[in-house]
Amino acid sequence: MKFSELLYNQLYTWFEYNKRVLPWRETDDPYKIWVSEIILQQTRVEQGLPYFMRFVDRFPTLLSLAQAKEDEVLRYWQGLGYYSRARNMYKAAQQLVSHGYATFAHTFDEIRALPGIGDYTAGAISAFAYNQPYPALDGNVYRVLARLTDCEIPFDTSAGKRHFHQVANEILDRNNPRLFDSALMEFGALYCVPSSPDCVNCPLQTWCQAYAHNTVNLLPVRKPRPKIRDRYFNYTIYLTPDRQTLIHQRQEKDIWHHLWEFPLVETDADTFQRQSSGVVFTHILSHQRLHARFTLQPVTTLPDIPQTKVVHISDIDDFALSRLTLKAMEYFEL
Ligand code: SF4
Repeated sequence: MKFSELLYNQLYTWFEYNKRVLPWRETDDPYKIWVSEIILQQTRVEQGLPYFMRFVDRFPTLLSLAQAKEDEVLRYWQGLGYYSRARNMYKAAQQLVSHGYATFAHTFDEIRALPGIGDYTAGAISAFAYNQPYPALDGNVYRVLARLTDCEIPFDTSAGKRHFHQVANEILDRNNPRLFDSALMEFGALYCVPSSPDCVNCPLQTWCQAYAHNTVNLLPVRKPRPKIRDRYFNYTIYLTPDRQTLIHQRQEKDIWHHLWEFPLVETDADTFQRQSSGVVFTHILSHQRLHARFTLQPVTTLPDIPQTKVVHISDIDDFALSRLTLKAMEYFEL
């Protein structure tokens, strides 16, 4: 499929009148674009924006990120979830600085080789920061491409990714990759939305195969979802009269690696359901549904639990905590 000049013009005119003003669009600083791309990997723009502002305010350059403590970086990520993204960024910043890069990596291959960076992110940074001819395919762009070409290949499989990458490469405006990628992404986010887009008034309708074949609402196709695993977490918040408590850092290769939380016993469903004390939250992660019970346990002295740390409850903010832990603290007004 080839895009004609007319289609580019339609797309760019739509973009000009409808685009959101976003701080990472107002800059060509590759470091800031990288931060925004990592934040937006699993997070919606409106949700990610305040995190981005706070993050680049505290870590305005590659060097400032590389020189920070990992725990502080994680604290600035707190609430965004998927902490491995922050850990990889931190690792990448240290690698780049140790190899003498002052601002960021310069070429697609150098960027792609960094931890936590796949084809999409490398393409997006290359196009947005350096105006290099690489397509940037996020979930919104996959949807637009699947519809424009009326293609049923699941976009979240490796075959699908390869296919749509090729399509995106063919239609890319090589004279203006930055504008093209930004416009197509924004068009997917705001106009060619998942359900019932306004196809009748769509500026790209003439080229849209799904519209012609009446398959818009069937596209894009995803691979079947993996089964969600249920887990049962029993947390105890020990609290002394002078407000000391116990926390521990997760060490296992599991969710929330290196984050801090209250002492935890994981049980099966029956044991969990036999308890009646505490407050129960359900917390959904990508492949797990956590049933978490928090029990506030006033004590005169803290119990001796291996690998825990004694902290004053008001100092707990100095540690990177999971969103679930924060939710429980809010509930108990700690
Ligand atoms: S016609 Fe509908 S499905 Fe096709 S690109 Fe436009 S909004 Fe998307």
